[in-house]
Amino acid sequence: MKYMFLLISFFVTFLKLSNAYALANCNIYNFDHVIKNDENNTQITKIIDNKPLDKKHINNEVILCKGYNHVNTNKKIISLTFDDGPSKQYTEQILLLLRNNNIKSTFFFVGKNVKDYPEIVTMLYKNGHVIANHTHNHSRLSDLSEDEIKNQIVKCNLEIKKIIGVSPLLFRPPYGSCSINSINVVRNLNLHTIMWSAMVDDYRIQGNSAEKIAHGILNLVKPGSIIGMHDGGGKRDNTVAALKIIIPTLKNQGYKFVTIPELLNISAYQISD
Ligand SMILES: [Zn+2]
Repeated sequence: MKYMFLLISFFVTFLKLSNAYALANCNIYNFDHVIKNDENNTQITKIIDNKPLDKKHINNEVILCKGYNHVNTNKKIISLTFDDGPSKQYTEQILLLLRNNNIKSTFFFVGKNVKDYPEIVTMLYKNGHVIANHTHNHSRLSDLSEDEIKNQIVKCNLEIKKIIGVSPLLFRPPYGSCSINSINVVRNLNLHTIMWSAMVDDYRIQGNSAEKIAHGILNLVKPGSIIGMHDGGGKRDNTVAALKIIIPTLKNQGYKFVTIPELLNISAYQISD
């Protein structure tokens, strides 16, 4: 009986220790480096950042997003990206602003919004902007099953393909939230996860001025940065006004704006399409 008790306590201690190890693991930052040569033979390093963005754990799964968030380069190149659109009011305003500044950007669209505003998607695509996937309903992937995650991503790509004729290869998880399941689905679909290195809470409507958003982004930007802003999902007047500060400031500093496929030297759409 005594031995039995000892055996059980030993087993309980072992379980506690392995759980603590799993939790401690969440704070480990891993970096995979992918070296590529760009067209000028300058070596750039794409960082695949495994930094956990969500502290939540489901069934002891460590929630993390594996994706590109910047490139290591001395060249003054940056990529402007937008999430949560298309929206009737703001995406068109941003398009006009980009056109006036001769800038091409990457738009991570929500499938159900794509369905509502196909003409905006067509206009952006025809103007040389890159159309990318941000799920169908803007779902938090860490809350979904593997089948539900696949459905969210595939449905968004189908809506986009219906309009522009090609299927996006670039994907951004809503809320920067991933799970082991979502990472597997994205890998099986052969998509690239694109995170960001310069984002402030431009999506928050209360207490955010254009100046505050612009200042926050400009403080974070360095060569190779991926800037994340929002053209949909709510009132985005401050984001549009902030862009009117950010774009001329960065241009004056000598920055060149490129799309995500140009920054990372990857394809935007599936070749088989
Ligand atoms: Zn989003």
